[in-house]
Amino acid sequence: MTRELICIGCPMGCELTVEVEDGKAVSVTGNTCGIGKKYAETEVSAPTRMVTTTVMADNGKPVPVKTRTAVPKEKISDVVKAVKSTTIKLPARIGDTAVENAAGTGIDVIVTKNAG
Ligand code: SF4
Repeated sequence: MTRELICIGCPMGCELTVEVEDGKAVSVTGNTCGIGKKYAETEVSAPTRMVTTTVMADNGKPVPVKTRTAVPKEKISDVVKAVKSTTIKLPARIGDTAVENAAGTGIDVIVTKNAG
């Protein structure tokens, strides 16, 4: 099976062609760099995404956050729900953990903007 993908690794958006066998990439073409090859291999076997959203602070205002690493695609809505059910205490600093082990993924959600 062949899959066509657009690499999301940078704004160049290389068009990737991936030959897939048994759910794994056996060849990747169209990538300009190694990031594209890695993206294609992951995307066809276990797709992941960084999650960016906001968490509510105890002053009633939202604070920007993101997952520390990419999350399996099927866990994204669970991670967002975990963040939306959390209120953090201010002050918050960039890199502070807002939600630990979000939705049991083992991945923390961290603050991306100083607040309070
Ligand atoms: S393959 Fe490399 S150059 Fe092309 S879009 Fe992906 S990261 Fe950018």
